[in-house]
Amino acid sequence: MIERNMCSESCCKAFCCLNPDFPSMDVSEEQILTWWPDAVRVISLEVADILHKSGVFYMEGEVRYQVKIKGYCPNVDEKFGCSIEERKPELCKKFGLGQDDCTSTRLTYFIPPYCEWLYNQNRESSRVVK
Ligand code: SF4
Ligand code: SF4
Repeated sequence: MIERNMCSESCCKAFCCLNPDFPSMDVSEEQILTWWPDAVRVISLEVADILHKSGVFYMEGEVRYQVKIKGYCPNVDEKFGCSIEERKPELCKKFGLGQDDCTSTRLTYFIPPYCEWLYNQNRESSRVVK
């Protein structure tokens, strides 16, 4: 069965996976590298800001790891889905379609909130039925 990607259907090209920050990850370094095998360890994430290239950067904080991604997360697939959907980080799992964080991301990229898009879709389809 082909799974529908309601995010891309509703005009969002995985915008929450573009330049995401993970400010506090209570996981091991090995775990980070299973999500992002090409991640680069840096002394400070400011280094990542200075470097004019995309990629995944991480540093060890006092208690937890911090991860910063410049550009799209490398796990975004060609259909704007997540290629590690089943095992993605907890923060990604919490980021829900239609929730406040989703809405503010969509508005940043000038696309309407998911619920508004859905409402308009339903209105359109009910017009077709009549
Ligand atoms: S959860 Fe929201 S912001 Fe993220 S890809 Fe889906 S629609 Fe876009
Ligand atoms: S791991 Fe998946 S959900 Fe998380 S930022 Fe990357 S592509 Fe997006």
